[in-house]
Amino acid sequence: SVKEKGKDSYCFYSQQMQEKNLRYIDMVNQIRRAIENEEFLLYYQPKIHLGSGRIVGAEALIRWLHPERGFIPPNEFIPVAEQTGQIKEIGAWVLKNALEQKKAWNKKGYEHLWMSINLSGRQLSEENIAKEIGGILESVGTDSKGVQLEITETAVMTDMEAAVETLGKLRELGFRIALDDFGTGYSSLTYLKKLPIDIVKMDRRFIKNIENDDADEAIIEAVIQMANALSKHVVAEGIETISQLEFLRKIGCGYGQGFLFSKAVPAREFEEMVTRVDENIKLAKR
Ligand code: C2E
Ligand code: MG
Ligand code: MG
Ligand code: MG
Repeated sequence: SVKEKGKDSYCFYSQQMQEKNLRYIDMVNQIRRAIENEEFLLYYQPKIHLGSGRIVGAEALIRWLHPERGFIPPNEFIPVAEQTGQIKEIGAWVLKNALEQKKAWNKKGYEHLWMSINLSGRQLSEENIAKEIGGILESVGTDSKGVQLEITETAVMTDMEAAVETLGKLRELGFRIALDDFGTGYSSLTYLKKLPIDIVKMDRRFIKNIENDDADEAIIEAVIQMANALSKHVVAEGIETISQLEFLRKIGCGYGQGFLFSKAVPAREFEEMVTRVDENIKLAKR
């Protein structure tokens, strides 16, 4: 009967929920162990000046190399760490290590490279985050020059007023602020004027639709025009094809990232790529 069926599906769902809870608890414990055992790594994805093809910077992206399960993607553990507050420790680890890498690059003659570091929503809403980040800078023994902090549009929209204040403080410390995943959070273009940000990163959903969706192409153009008018840089995320690159160059998008150029790679590989690209550009000019 319908009633029995309903009962069955109730049992089915509750069992499913129980499994989900167990998986969640397991993930929380695994993250705790990963923090203790330092199972995290940073990989670096190049940021490209689209006009010249030069690599102008790196986005630090966290990688978790689990001893038994291999690489676990950030989208699987960052949201959990956000919920439990473990992101606080992970975030501090990321900042320290990315800044140490930036310091090392400065010494090796790569001081022109930008270093972009992702901050989660929960980090942004911590009361003393600016002070804390200032402290990490000091302990690493480097400065904020050439360091960008990426924060998602959604995180900023959660509490605009608080975000404006915190981002302002971070800017006073000399960081540049990038609004990440722009276009996913329902904020209007006019917010761009109010927010203390320097860079707009257009979400890869729009880039994906280049050549398939005229409306998305129009949105990309509008964002670029608006950003230009406000003297903000634009970075296009997720460039995967030559035709996407050509479209973005044509409409005056300054910078981009994506698998067309490179995925995120270990620091040593990143350095080799920078040298190789610079040499190729020099050769092409001769
Ligand atoms: P995000 O900051 O928007 O980073 C871009 C993501 O898109 C990265 O995934 C990158 O590998 C991927 N990506 C880059 N180019 C392409 C492309 O051409 N096509 C496709 N399909 N994907 C591309 P990843 O490394 O898996 O990171 C996912 C998200 O996890 C990041 O999104 C960011 O929100 C978060 N995350 C990563 N590292 C950190 C971190 O150190 N701290 C915090 N708080 N969040 C992080
Ligand atoms: Mg990012
Ligand atoms: Mg992004
Ligand atoms: Mg994105």
